[in-house]
Amino acid sequence: MAKTRVVTLDLKFQNKTQAIASYLIRHSSGAVLVESGPGSCHAGLLAGLAAQGLSPRDITHVLLTHIHLDHAGAAGWWSEQGAEIIVHPVGAPHMLNPEKLLASAARIYGDKMDSLWGEFLPVNGSRLRVVQDAEEIVIGELRFVALNTPGHAEHHYAYLFENLCFTGDVGGVRIPGYPYLRAPMPPPELHLEKWHESLARLRKQKLAYIAPTHFGIYDDPEWHLNEVEKGLDSAARWLEQVMPGDPPIDELRESFTEWMVEEGVESGLSEDVMRSYELANPPGMSADGLYRYWKKVKMASQ
Ligand SMILES: [Zn+2]
Repeated sequence: MAKTRVVTLDLKFQNKTQAIASYLIRHSSGAVLVESGPGSCHAGLLAGLAAQGLSPRDITHVLLTHIHLDHAGAAGWWSEQGAEIIVHPVGAPHMLNPEKLLASAARIYGDKMDSLWGEFLPVNGSRLRVVQDAEEIVIGELRFVALNTPGHAEHHYAYLFENLCFTGDVGGVRIPGYPYLRAPMPPPELHLEKWHESLARLRKQKLAYIAPTHFGIYDDPEWHLNEVEKGLDSAARWLEQVMPGDPPIDELRESFTEWMVEEGVESGLSEDVMRSYELANPPGMSADGLYRYWKKVKMASQ
């Protein structure tokens, strides 16, 4: 039973519950984390482990869905504690030498970089393990399968664990208690067509549970994946409407943010939950991602 083995650790990102998760699975000689979370959530993660009776030395492996800071920021620290860090081949060089990754994040987050994300240490090369698409990852009695799932980012894996799938960000953002999802669409690699293909691949897996990093484990994977698809489609329609006017990026950010607020109000989200969505997935960032996708992918293909 996959679901009963997985413990959801709430990293309490920016003192907010249900924004960023790290998933814990015990095995015969330690435990695995899916996602390290960012460096800024270090205390939250260690407290979560302590509540489970575990210390950092018990973590043998950390599986990263992708290298965005909210998912992989603390991986370097975990490698120094002795954990093996498992990552997509395209993400691996950035975990060894994070300068470019951090410079591009600094362009998005500016002077909030440190307070949002904390320290990002390079991963110790001897602890980094690159896995290939469809590769089975065997850890004690546990079996995971890496599924290449680009769209949100080029270097994205979802991990199958029996009938449960850890979907990182390709499975969207969903806060417990509301029948509502959002697809996080950051620059620079957002690609809506690839994202659709990745969702189609996930649908083929006969899942009973889906576990996005933002946030929790759900037992309605089909509905969930349909909603992500709808979100991508409505973003594509929105782009088709606004982009022919060639709006400046500031204007685009503003109108996208307004659109997200309207959608949230229509869906009956409380202010608190809206804040969780914004933390996990800043609307301005998705506007930037869509803008770049439009210029780089859509226009280039015409
Ligand atoms: Zn991401």
